[in-house]
Amino acid sequence: MTQDLRSFLDLVKRCKPDDLVIVSREVDPAYEITGLVVKLERERRRPIVVFENVKGSRFPVLTNLHATRSRLAAAINAAPDGMLTTYLHAMERPIPPRVVPTGPVKEVVLTGERVSLYDLPQIVHHERDAGPYITAAISFARDPEHEIWNCAYNRLMIQGRDRTSIHLTIGKHLWEFHKKAEALGRPLPVAFAIGVHPAVALGALAIGSIDEDERAIMGGLFGEPLELVQCETSDILVPAHAELVIEAEILPHERVAEGPFGEFTGYSLGERQREVVRVNAITHRQGAYFHDISVAHLDHLLLSTVPIEANLYRAVRAMVPSVRAVRVPAPFTCYVSLEQRAPGQAKNAILAVLGSDLYIKRVVVVDQDVDVFDDRQVTWAMATRCQPDRDLLVVTHARGSDLDPSAPQDGYTAKWGVDATAKPSLDAYTPRHRVPREVMERLRLEDFGL
Ligand code: MN
Repeated sequence: MTQDLRSFLDLVKRCKPDDLVIVSREVDPAYEITGLVVKLERERRRPIVVFENVKGSRFPVLTNLHATRSRLAAAINAAPDGMLTTYLHAMERPIPPRVVPTGPVKEVVLTGERVSLYDLPQIVHHERDAGPYITAAISFARDPEHEIWNCAYNRLMIQGRDRTSIHLTIGKHLWEFHKKAEALGRPLPVAFAIGVHPAVALGALAIGSIDEDERAIMGGLFGEPLELVQCETSDILVPAHAELVIEAEILPHERVAEGPFGEFTGYSLGERQREVVRVNAITHRQGAYFHDISVAHLDHLLLSTVPIEANLYRAVRAMVPSVRAVRVPAPFTCYVSLEQRAPGQAKNAILAVLGSDLYIKRVVVVDQDVDVFDDRQVTWAMATRCQPDRDLLVVTHARGSDLDPSAPQDGYTAKWGVDATAKPSLDAYTPRHRVPREVMERLRLEDFGL
């Protein structure tokens, strides 16, 4: 399997040419790129869009790459409804990465005074955003004390020629690395890959223990080791086939104003003091695509769902083997269906979900006859199988997403679970209505002129 974005674009061109649109007319990176994606989405069109001519930059912008489930599935060689299985397989059988001497990402190497973030497309996505943001940067970093690596998406706000701010989710792995480095008074070396094969993107979003190596999950998704090259200015390893890499460090004890920024929650959360990144080098392929994620739209929302659902399925299955399905239908929300073989398993599923994902704040558990991919059915189960004084569980003062506007302090939040399974069991519950099966099999609409 080839590991670059371009080979995936070739696959799309070959198999689904309408899924890739090239725009040669000049576009303003302030609002117009996101605006056009929003307009397409309103028409239920979700192609990958390449803007060849972006005002103020020589880099073409590629966006909307992840906006359909079928594209994501194709990227990991799965059927659209088989992504969970494929992803779980990669988590269970990770393949460690391989270091190679060099790769296409080194075709152009810019260091020192030649580094300028202002040469990149200055994309402003939404009205209240504080400035141009880089939304498709995948961080690669190592624990300052151990040989533990981490990958994550981190939004970067361009703050100067060689400066950005970075949003580190409190309590997550890169934040933990930076806390350790800061305690030692040291900067944390980091590199950001921009423009990668979607399998790399999906792997970067894997949720698990800090010692689970996302790079090996990327390998599991590729079916071969991810090829890495060493940075020019640090010993951080980055994908050899990336379009562009920003080599940098997160500075200790420095903070800068960041935000507001329109996020996946659907809100434009206000200004905060956040960590500072100093950029030491930029390397890229000849004619590199600058990848932008259309933040807060389908391009963004679909991508993270697959890895979150896989992790939650894994966590619930560890507790309740008869779990049937897991779905993340909205921010901070998870639906689980299971075949409850003993009373109490629904509560255990709630605990498993809340215990295995920082972001999830609301869990609804239903029986196996309810389709979690149909919101109406889930709402129906909550209404007809649930007594809130008995079936509602609230956890107070826990850590959640620092982007949840309803929390009184960033990320310090309550969480809740709803056991919407029938009690004491589905078999013993008031039966659902049904026309006798024999009648349904016999009846034909056309016999009645219908
Ligand atoms: Mn991690």
